[in-house]
This record gives sequence, C-alpha cells and structure tokens, in this order.
Amino acid sequence: MNHPPVPTRARLGEVRYEIRGELARRARELEAQGRRLIKLNIGNPGAFGFRAPEHLQRAIAEHLAESDPYTHQQGLPAAREAIAAQHRARGVHGATPERVFVGNGVSELIDLSLRALLNPGDEVLLPSPDYPLWSAATILNDGRPVYYRCEAGNGFLPDPDEIESLVSSRTRALVLINPNNPTGASYPRALLERLVAIAAKHDLLLMADEIYDGILYDGAAFQPLAPLADDLPCLSFGGLSKVHRACGWRVGWALLSGDPLRIGEYHHALDLLGALRLCANVPGQFAVAAALTGPDTITALTAPGGRLYESRRAVIDSCAASDFLALVPPQGALYAFPAVDTEALRGFDDHRFAVELLEEEDVLIVPGSSFNVPYRHHFRVTLLPEADTVREVFRRIERALARHAER
Ligand code: PLP
Repeated sequence: MNHPPVPTRARLGEVRYEIRGELARRARELEAQGRRLIKLNIGNPGAFGFRAPEHLQRAIAEHLAESDPYTHQQGLPAAREAIAAQHRARGVHGATPERVFVGNGVSELIDLSLRALLNPGDEVLLPSPDYPLWSAATILNDGRPVYYRCEAGNGFLPDPDEIESLVSSRTRALVLINPNNPTGASYPRALLERLVAIAAKHDLLLMADEIYDGILYDGAAFQPLAPLADDLPCLSFGGLSKVHRACGWRVGWALLSGDPLRIGEYHHALDLLGALRLCANVPGQFAVAAALTGPDTITALTAPGGRLYESRRAVIDSCAASDFLALVPPQGALYAFPAVDTEALRGFDDHRFAVELLEEEDVLIVPGSSFNVPYRHHFRVTLLPEADTVREVFRRIERALARHAER
C-alpha cells in the first residue's frame, strides 16, 4: 500500500538558514573523505580555540550539584538580578529581575518573543541583511518580514526615512541588530534616537538584538537602545555565547523595559511561553552573575594586539590588497561582509562562488544572499580564526576570484 510522506509545515518552504545548510553538509562530506577545510561559516568561538573565561567555568562547576531542579521559567534569581543590574547601570528605568527572561540562548528568546507578539499577517521590520533566525522566527510565527536596507554605501546603517515609509497598520515591531551580524556595523546614538522616535510615533515594540554588545574595535562605542527608549516598550537581548565565548552553554536573556501599563500583557505572554518550555539550561545560568559582575575578558581580545583585533586587521588588509574585493570595515561583532566587484567579475554569483571555494580551495564561507538581501555579490566570513589563517583564506579567495575573472 502507498502511504503519503509525513507532512511538514508549509511555511518552512519560506525559511532558510544557510549558515548550517547545504554548504555545511557538503563540507562535512568532504571532511569525511579526509579533506582539511577552513570553515568560516559559524560565529562559534569555541570551535576556534577560544575558551569561556575561567571564572565562568568555576561558577558552573561550583553550582553543578544545585543544578538538578528546574528553575523558575524566567530564570535563576541571581542571574536575573545580575542582568537587571547591568541594564540599570546603563540607565534603563525599571530594570528589575521580574523584567528579565533567561533562555536557551538568544535564539530561543527570539522565537518566544515573536510568538508572544504576532498574529497572522502582522509585520516585523527587519534589517537586510539580517541574522536569518529573525526572518525564520517571524515567518514561523505567522508574521511577515518587511526589510529595511542597510547598504554598504551607507556604512551598512539603516535609513530612518526608509524605515518609516515601510510602517503599515500591521507593523508590530522594529528589530535592530547592534553591533550587527553580518555587517559589523555599530549604530550611533543619533541614529538610534531617530529609530526610537519612529517606534514611539507608530506604537512599535523595539527589539534590540545586542548579543555582540561588548565586541567593538578601534574605539567604536556600544550604545544600548533601551536607555534611549525610556518608557517605550523595548526588549533587549544579550547572552553568554559571544562576548563570553560560551555558545555551547546555551544561555541568553532578554530584558523587557517600558511603561508597565503598556508591557504588562506582553510580559504575561512571555511568561506563559516560558513556562510551557519549563526553564533554560540550569548549569549555564549559574555563570551569568559571574560573567556580568566579574572582570572584563573581551577587551583584551578586541584591542590592538588582541586576537580578534589582529584577525579583523588581517581581513581589512586582505580586502584592501585585493583586486576584486571592497569592505566596509566591521566596527563590532565577529564578522566581515566583503563585496565582490561585479564590474571586474561579470556574472558573479555568491552561491556558486561559495560552492567553488569549498570544492576547489577547501574554504567554507556563507554567501551574502543567505542573509535576506536582494543582491548576490557579498559573502560573510567570521573573524574568529587566527590572523595567519585569515590571510591564507583570503589568498585562496583571491585565487578563486582571479580564475573567475579569466573566464
Ligand atoms: N542574534 C545574533 C545577531 C546572532 O548572531 C546569534 C548567533 O550567532 C544569535 C542571536 C543567537 O545566539 P545564541 O542563541 O547562541 O544566544
């Protein structure tokens, strides 16, 4: 008898996450055949030899015996207090532990926060390029992504006038990623103030993905959004994965700020969705207070001489020396998003190029079109490998581009 295949959710057809997609699968196949690849597709510090700071590891080890029970759905009190205190120190009014939600990474909280917000057909303003989970979670929670452009010609900063022109009666939220993945842009205060004004005028929930909040280069300063939003509803996301190099612990958080009368129902919705999934990974939660109250361990990596600084320098120098590449230097986060000169390389296609680079040069990158942009001449690399590896990668990229130019 013929039975149909197991059905899947129709809207999954609209969802892509190529950072771990087809190219990554092909890379594993090649590795299984014995090929040694340089994989620059994931911003995963631990995979490049970084360790979480020792005082965070100790905090987990010391509390492991207390980690057996579920915690409250919003997280351990000590973790929530430390997160609230961080936001109070930034000038966020009413940042109390009750307003904090700890999750299994920011990833889980992106999904929960959109699920708590959206009804079918509601719109979310997202950056293009975006971090593709934001698009995926919008779509899978019955929403519609509406993209505002962050173009290289404008330093990858958004244009507030364009954002405002995209607001409709269905727009529910404005999402910002600052410092930005994949572009490395860091948003200045005056720009953030304009975006806050748009949210105020149109009653939008501000969603600030600030998971790279401590990773900035060359004197760029991080400006958190919530202190500027004052009484406006705002969710600010942070976590242990990047600044504290502990991706695998799966700990992230969100702080809900704004007028209690406006955020009360949404708070309950988040709390209910949190309760349905019981709680976040408990051992990792014990590291949060240590991370936020202990010594700064990231600046030594991002300052001149630091490993991230030097790798970023190597990317910038390699692109400057290239016959084919242009780069807006990343000011923050863990990525660079170079552009390929399409005058010199007619017919260039980012995806085809990524396949070729993997098959012929043993390098895995992410095509720019994976980040929901309407063009196909960028790619993303992570800044996490050592500077020498970065230089080797760009030698291979240049070789592949030169072959392309000869065709
Ligand atoms: N947001 C951004 C912009 C990211 O780049 C990432 C991971 O790369 C996440 C959220 C998810 O982080 P996690 O779930 O590890 O906290």
